[in-house]
Amino acid sequence: MVFQAVGKLLGYKKHSGKPVKDKRKLATEVDKPYLDPRYVSARIVDTDILMLVALPKGVNVDEWLASNASAFYNHVSLLYGAISEYCTMPNCPTMTAWNTQFQWTDEKGRKRKCSAPQYADYAATIVQKLLTDEALVPTKHCQEFPKTFRPAIQKVFRLLFHLLGHIYASHFKAVVKLELHPHLNTLYLHLLLFCAEFHMLDSKEMALSEELTTALIRSSPQPRNSGVLPRKA
Ligand SMILES: [Zn+2]
Repeated sequence: MVFQAVGKLLGYKKHSGKPVKDKRKLATEVDKPYLDPRYVSARIVDTDILMLVALPKGVNVDEWLASNASAFYNHVSLLYGAISEYCTMPNCPTMTAWNTQFQWTDEKGRKRKCSAPQYADYAATIVQKLLTDEALVPTKHCQEFPKTFRPAIQKVFRLLFHLLGHIYASHFKAVVKLELHPHLNTLYLHLLLFCAEFHMLDSKEMALSEELTTALIRSSPQPRNSGVLPRKA
């Protein structure tokens, strides 16, 4: 049921449930260690993440987006900080996230090639600048959020998604060595479901990590405390 609800949220097509023969399986196992069943089921919570994502009653949606963006940024920064000694110019000369190479797009829309640590540095600077801009994210009561808020906050989520994608694609072994993969899986799934619920990422971006998202949802533990009473037989 959880998978069906989440699948609907993500816009997945109905799956037959039969295992799909994949000739690329061996390559996948080598290139994508994060899909290994030993790791993919690791979490730090067994809560229903959809309940964490949902807008609480009485809360302004823009305030909810801003406070979550700030919390996600702090968690992504902590995880990236833990592996940053491995993310160096020689190790990561290009910014690879999932199977894609990203260039940095500056504030004037110009693209430039950069290494992963440079990309992470640019991303941290722009995210901090956006989230602390009083004109964009008003903190005083009853102040309206400007029209520029939504595109800016989407950019924040896109950058965080890229950073998590880089950690999965290039530093997953280090993450496992540090025993941080339950944190990474939980954070990724929370971020992705949040983005799906509030349309923070476009479908092309979300498709980049669809394989991982599906594997994580399928291996999610049954929530112990979903707040929903079990049906009587
Ligand atoms: Zn790196």
